[in-house]
Amino acid sequence: MDIVKGKQLYEGKAKKVFETNDPNLVIVDYKDDATAFNGEKKGTIHDKGIVNNKMSDFLMSLLEKEGIPTHFVKEISDRETIVKKVTIIPLEVIVRNITAGSLSKRVGKPEGIKLSVPVIEYSYKDDELGDPMVNDYHIISFGWATKEELAVIADYALKVNAFLINYLKDVGVDLVDFKLEFGKTADGTIILADEISPDTCRFWDSKTGEKLDKDRFRRNMGGEEEAYQEMFKRLGL
Ligand code: ADP
Ligand code: UDP
Repeated sequence: MDIVKGKQLYEGKAKKVFETNDPNLVIVDYKDDATAFNGEKKGTIHDKGIVNNKMSDFLMSLLEKEGIPTHFVKEISDRETIVKKVTIIPLEVIVRNITAGSLSKRVGKPEGIKLSVPVIEYSYKDDELGDPMVNDYHIISFGWATKEELAVIADYALKVNAFLINYLKDVGVDLVDFKLEFGKTADGTIILADEISPDTCRFWDSKTGEKLDKDRFRRNMGGEEEAYQEMFKRLGL
């Protein structure tokens, strides 16, 4: 069956989501719009939508081969991808290998310290509340995921981390931290959804420490377009 783009279901800060003629599939359309600090800072990064669409598709295809189920189905244009429709589990699953960002602030440690084991953190996805950090007990108590589902999510998140660390090391990039979102398909299967891109990961050049991600935009450093293009090139895209 040919998949036909239907009406827009949702417009987020970085992507639009469209229904299709298949109730189990949606089309995501990546924008160049960039936001930070929960939407307080707004701008655009030229061709970011193309980089994020293609990078996310590329990495999710690799992860599928590693046994991690993802929403990726088919890239249909530079900015659009058909994905499996899920009910998003309202959690930002953050994995960290090196201190940075909000962790550095929270514990009063400089950025750039290697963590002796990967650290998983969860935030409750709610823009009005500013995505507050929560723990396993909150997640189970409030029913955002069951204990069993959370175990699956944590297992997948650590596998994604192990795979990406290695893959990126070969192209001279250190994976500092990243955010994942998971969702449930109609039959209840948990799969990796949303995106994996310089918007959602911190990438540092292994030799120079140069930032190749959205921190350039968040921190008004300039060169964000070049940083996204550099990551695109490193992955051979
Ligand atoms: P935000 O909602 O934070 O502004 P985006 O602009 O990235 O974020 O919007 C994309 C929305 O689509 C997000 O709410 C995300 O949780 C959701 N989403 C991602 N993948 C899927 C999927 N496979 N099925 C349904 N919704 C998805
Ligand atoms: N992150 C994200 N979306 C968010 C919050 C964080 O993609 O709403 C990513 C961010 O890009 C970084 C990691 O999660 O790679 C950890 O972010 P942190 O908690 O340090 O927050 P920040 O410093 O971005 O506020």
